[in-house]
Amino acid sequence: MTQPYVTLPTRPYLSPPGATAAASLYVDGAWRAAGAGGVREIRNPCDASVLTVVSEAGTADAATAVAAARAAFDGTDWPRRSAEDRGAILNRIADLLQRDRAEIALMESLDTGKTIAEGEIDVDDVTAVFRYYAGLAGKDAGRIIAAPEGVSSRVVYEPVGVCAMITPWNYPLLQLAWKMAPAIAAGATMVIKPSEITPVTTARLVDLTTEAGVPPGVVNLVLGAGGTVGAALVESPDVDLVSFTGGLATGRRIMASAAATVKKVALELGGKNPNIVFDDVDLDTAVDYALSAAFFHSGQVCSAGARLIVHEAVHDAFTAELARRADRIRIGCGQEKGVQAGPLVSAEHRAKVEAAVARGVEEGARVIAGGGRPPEPELAKGYFFRPTVFVDCHRGMDIVQQEVFGPVVTVETFRTEAEAIALGNDTEYGLSGAVWTGDTARGERVAAALRHGTVWINDYGPYFPGAEWGGFKRSGIGRELGQAGLDEYREAKHIYRNLDPRPQRWFS
Ligand code: NAD
Repeated sequence: MTQPYVTLPTRPYLSPPGATAAASLYVDGAWRAAGAGGVREIRNPCDASVLTVVSEAGTADAATAVAAARAAFDGTDWPRRSAEDRGAILNRIADLLQRDRAEIALMESLDTGKTIAEGEIDVDDVTAVFRYYAGLAGKDAGRIIAAPEGVSSRVVYEPVGVCAMITPWNYPLLQLAWKMAPAIAAGATMVIKPSEITPVTTARLVDLTTEAGVPPGVVNLVLGAGGTVGAALVESPDVDLVSFTGGLATGRRIMASAAATVKKVALELGGKNPNIVFDDVDLDTAVDYALSAAFFHSGQVCSAGARLIVHEAVHDAFTAELARRADRIRIGCGQEKGVQAGPLVSAEHRAKVEAAVARGVEEGARVIAGGGRPPEPELAKGYFFRPTVFVDCHRGMDIVQQEVFGPVVTVETFRTEAEAIALGNDTEYGLSGAVWTGDTARGERVAAALRHGTVWINDYGPYFPGAEWGGFKRSGIGRELGQAGLDEYREAKHIYRNLDPRPQRWFS
């Protein structure tokens, strides 16, 4: 297949290729074009064709969107709406996502390159997140504090205010939902800025929020570059919280810039996630999960199991089977039936992955599968890269320490449990990791010792809306999902009432 046999479903805010850019910013309940007339072409990573043309905001558009979110927060009843009301809106969004599941999954697949099956998983996951926060809205609204006689004391939770939500290109829909759902549950207002190269499903979800009854000004959308529009949101004195998901370098910049206005910052950053395999497991199962951990969405997953740490007794058998099966992964356009892994998201990103692989070879790691672009001429226009396995790796190598964010896995070996734990924690990141063992007690010991926000025992990848997600160390600050994911969007306020005030005479 050389061309995708499907095109992007048209929507008023997504112009077809060759047309004038649609009005694709959403501010104060209306779609509008960028003030300065900016436009951007969005490309299909499978063949580099133009999928759609959208408005490209500038800093003035960011300011207008923030003003709309501010006005909705300060000047409407949104922050004080009942929990039932907000829960009903969240459930309606979930219903609409399921109504349009096929179309949204296709949009995500065309925009990011992931397979349609992966897109469908995303829509279902996101639906579950909206339903979870629908259930949580209004629960735990505050608490009474035991106070001395004559005093009433209570803690109440209030929405944090105006939120800037800045999201990456690998999971545009999902990463937004993790922010938007709890923000709606809490009663906050928001300005969303997706990755400039994957805006499609973000616009689609924003559209659904209106259909679900979210009032004007509560959800606003600006499309544009991180360094301009994103930075303007972070700098704005009218934004109370920046919730960011993306790379470590950008997270550092955002944190530094947010310091000027001392706004709250929630960061979900990268990972270099260990997948530890002991010698007492069923190798077929462990290899199977290792493949998904490393190559799902072509490895463009923050929690990808990109760093395999395998007991030396099973290393040779494990890596031989891993390489054999990695070579057989069927790559192609994500919309084609039978394709198991799509392209990387952009030419620029593939160039970064290629540079990291070249560096790995230079450092002495040995490629036993993949290592380059696929030879098939029909894939030449897309941004494809073959699933790649490196052996002879050690902890000092860049290929082992740096997040590659592509279909590349490194394999190291260990002898003892202590060594496995040391290697598993030998990273500046701390997002996720896994341990495979037939020994229950050892699995629990290793899980307890790993300094990562999520640890899987004999599994890799699943998460639940009710379980907090986030990073230790440089993988971030704060948590998404779960109760803590709601608390990011709330301020706790202590209200203390003296029931019988009398003079204190402290200064008499
Ligand atoms: P990125 O940091 O390049 O960009 C993320 C977002 O930040 C984009 O919207 C971008 O436009 C914006 N941005 C860039 N510079 C900015 C600035 N100066 N000010 C404000 N905004 C700015 O990341 P990416 O390449 O889009 O995504 C990949 C990264 O995201 C990986 O490191 C991955 O691990 C991470 N990620 C983490 C999680 C998680 O849950 N921890 C989930 C998904 C992705």
